[in-house]
Parts: sequence; structure tokens; C-alpha cells
Amino acid sequence: MHQLTNYINGEKVPPAGGAYLDNINPATGAVFSKVPDSDAADVEAAVAAADRAFPIWSKTPADERSRILLRMADLIESRLDEFARAETDDNGKCLSLARTVDIPRAVKNLRFFATAILHTQSESHVTDGQALNYTLRKPRGVCGLISPWNLPLYLFTWKIAPAIATGNTAVAKPSEVTPVTAAMLADVAIEAGLPAGVLNIVHGLGAKAGAAIVSHPKITTISFTGGTVTGRAIAAVAAPMFKKISLELGGKNPTIVFADADMKKALPTSVRAAFANQGQICLCGSRLFVERSICDDFTAKFVAAAKQIRVGDPLEESSAMGALVSKAQLDKVSQYVALAKEEGGEILCGGEPPAPVNDRCKNGYFVQPTVIAGLSHSCRVNQEEIFGPVVSIIPFDDEKQVIDMANSTPYGLSASIWTENLNRAHRVAEGVQSGTIWINTWLLRDLRVPFGGMKQSGVGREGGDEAIRFFTEPKNVCIATPND
Ligand code: NDP
Repeated sequence: MHQLTNYINGEKVPPAGGAYLDNINPATGAVFSKVPDSDAADVEAAVAAADRAFPIWSKTPADERSRILLRMADLIESRLDEFARAETDDNGKCLSLARTVDIPRAVKNLRFFATAILHTQSESHVTDGQALNYTLRKPRGVCGLISPWNLPLYLFTWKIAPAIATGNTAVAKPSEVTPVTAAMLADVAIEAGLPAGVLNIVHGLGAKAGAAIVSHPKITTISFTGGTVTGRAIAAVAAPMFKKISLELGGKNPTIVFADADMKKALPTSVRAAFANQGQICLCGSRLFVERSICDDFTAKFVAAAKQIRVGDPLEESSAMGALVSKAQLDKVSQYVALAKEEGGEILCGGEPPAPVNDRCKNGYFVQPTVIAGLSHSCRVNQEEIFGPVVSIIPFDDEKQVIDMANSTPYGLSASIWTENLNRAHRVAEGVQSGTIWINTWLLRDLRVPFGGMKQSGVGREGGDEAIRFFTEPKNVCIATPND
């Protein structure tokens, strides 16, 4: 059985305590690798290596840092099939999705920040003939980077790329549920010539390895993506230590369909927004608000489309949905389906495992796309993040009402609005409290824009300039320029 290693000080090393966790393939339910169950000793070694590497890496010319990151991107791209297969075995997602979205977007993350650092500008301000101010942006030191299981390499590299491109060093922890592509990234870093200690990857449990990263006094910058409850626990540790933190947290995103929407686009895209990656994307539209005059017709077509989605072996090209990431996630989804019934909802389709997919996947964690109707926007199913292929349809009568309902959850990550009325699109975009608003589209990404959540969906922003600002410390230099 394949035994993964940590990556510390440029070397692949076993965990100090010698303990390992099972890594399960969610499509088969079988253990397929062993992942280090690292502890504070491993984190300590990683921080020491990162701390030693920082003085040289932070002074390495941007051009050289850029070249190494670009090499890493090329190496991942040249092994796209291998990476995609690993992501599928680790996560249960369809191979076609890993090949066309997850891995290519990880490559783009590295390329984007590798080249962005060649084009940064420094601010300067002239103070009324008295002074010239200029701002130095310096890397902050050792950064702690913690990412979740739903888009493993994609989100891991979205943190690593800006952190090390700007001259920081890093101690990074992927989710222990999906560690394989992070372990493969270590091979890529070694092959690309990344100097020892610049990137350190420590595998293991959040409560042990993750907590040791968050509380380490030498780690002054933390970028975290994961659940809101975990984010709150991290903030509670980091805030009294005055660490700089970025928290990308959960969502309960509205998809809003007005009667005048272009249904040829609104229907298939809202289906994709509900069920892509088995509904396990923080940006998935899990509350589908439909204008009452078209709601019955739209619902019928939406349910018909959901029933057409083939839940199957993620390795097969014909599968559109694979397995949920874990037994725990499957149980959570089942509990919410039961809660929906208790709350008076009607399950229009799904809510159950599909017929056994094939012999290989007979013990996998599969569930059918699930559509619920008849629930109030304020019930628990429509307020809490489920993070699975479950969507609730809610009719609305007017703009004000739908904005109020969309804003009624503690979350504010993203929203997708469908209308052909430009004025209304702008009004609703302004009214909905979400960090990202898509109009007549969903999940379209431009790496230059700020990305992050409002309310309990997070603190801070990722994306181009925002990430570069997050990972650098501004220092103002004021030079007196007296004119007498
Ligand atoms: P978790 O919050 O459970 O875990 C995220 C990461 O944090 C994992 O690596 C986890 O390790 C680690 N962790 C857990 N506890 C601690 C701790 N006390 N200290 C430090 N690290 C810790 O999230 P999930 O992995 O379940 O991911 C799903 C969540 O992520 C959803 O809520 C989703 O909305 C959110 N998400 C947000 C995104 C955004 O951009 N806003 C994007 C993608 C997902 P371990 O795996 O061992 O628990």
C-alpha cells in the first residue's frame, strides 16, 4: 500500500511519531493509501526549515522565483492524467471534472502568481510639497496554509502560489481526507528546483497538525479555507496572537431566476450550480429562488434534468456525478434529507443512494441529486450549509422579497442571478450580500478579481492583487522634501 510522506526542508520524510491514517477511496470505500498522522514535532521541524529558508528566498529575485513556479506548473500539466486520477481516487469526483477543472485551475494558479510578481507596482504619494511617501511591500515570513478536501490541489495551490511567489516561505496542510495530490506536489517542487524549506507540506488531522500550525508563534500569517466552525476556532487562537488571517469559509448560496431569464442558459447552469462536484463546491447554489409565475414549469424541468444526471463510477466518462467524499459526508446529507421531510418539505427526486453503480463501487458513498420543494426560506435546511447534492426550490413574488430571503442566512459567499433586465440585474447584485455575484453565469473565474465571503463566509479576500497584498507587509517610507 502506498505510504505518503511529509515534505520538510526539501525532503520527503515520515512523520516523527511514525503514525499513519487510512486514506479511503470514496468511490470504493477501500483504503488505498496511508497518510502521515503528523503532530506538533513535524510542524516544528517544518517551521524551522521555513524560517531558515526565508532570508534567502525573500531576497531571491522575482524573476528566479517566477521561473521555478512556472516549472512547477509545467510539470503538473505534463502529468495531468496522473494528477487527475489521484484526485479522483482521493475525492470521489469524476475524472472528467478533475481533468478539465481541478488540475488545469491548479496549473493556472501557479502560472498566474508566477507572472503577477513580475508586474507589481509600488505606491507613492506626494504630500503637498512637504514629503514624498513610498510604500515598500515586503514578504511577511513563514505562512501557515490550510485547505479543505473539496477541490484539493486547486485550493492548495491557490494559497501556496501567492505565498511563495511573493517571497514568503510556507508550512502547508492539505485535508487529511484528500492528501495525494499534495504529496505529488512535493515531487514537483523537488524536480522544479524549489529551494529546501521554501514549501513544507505536513499531512495530518486538523485538530493536531492543523492546530499546531495555527498556534505556532513563528507563523504570523494564516490563510485558511474550510468550514465556518473551524474558521471560528482558528480565529479564536490567532486573534490574541495578532496574526494576520484570511478565512474562506462556508456558503449557502442563492441562485435567483426571474421570469424573464433566458431559460436555455438558466436551467442547465442552475442544475450544474446545484450538483457539480456532488454539490461539494463552496460556491454551489443550494437555494434556488424562482419567480412564482414560472416556478411550477421551471421546477418540473429542473427535476427532469436532475433525474438525467448519471451518478456513476467516477472513472467512467459517462458519469456526471461521482461519490461524496466520505461516509461522514454521506451521513450528513442523509440527515439533512430526513430533516427536510420533518420540516414539511417534499422530496421531488433523489435523497437516496442510486442502484449499485458497478461491482468496483458497490461500497462507495453515492447519493442521487436531490431536489426539495415546499420549505420556508427560514427553516434549517435552507439556513445551514449541507455541502452535498441537495437543492431547495423556493418561489418568490418580487425583487425586494427575494433579496431579503437571499440575505436571510448567516452566509454571504456567492450568488447567481438570472434575468435579461440589465437594471434589475444591477439592483439585485447590489442588494444581495455576497462576496461574488454572477449575472447570467456561474463559477466563471478571473484570477484578478477579489474573491471571498461576506458575513460568516469569511474574512479577507483572495485573488490577484488581494492575495499579493495579503502575503506582503506594507511599509511606508516618508522623505521630507522641504522647499525652502
Ligand atoms: P474543515 O473546516 O473541516 O477543514 C478544513 C481544513 O482545516 C482541513 O485541512 C482540516 O483538517 C483543517 N482543520 C480542521 N480543524 C482545524 C483546527 N482546529 N485548526 C487548524 N486546522 C484545522 O472543512 P472541510 O475540509 O470539511 O471543507 C468543507 C468546508 O470548506 C465547507 O464548509 C466549504 O464551504 C468550505 N469551503 C470554502 C471555500 C471558500 O472559498 N470560501 C472553498 C471550499 C470549501 P482535517 O481534514 O483533518 O479536518
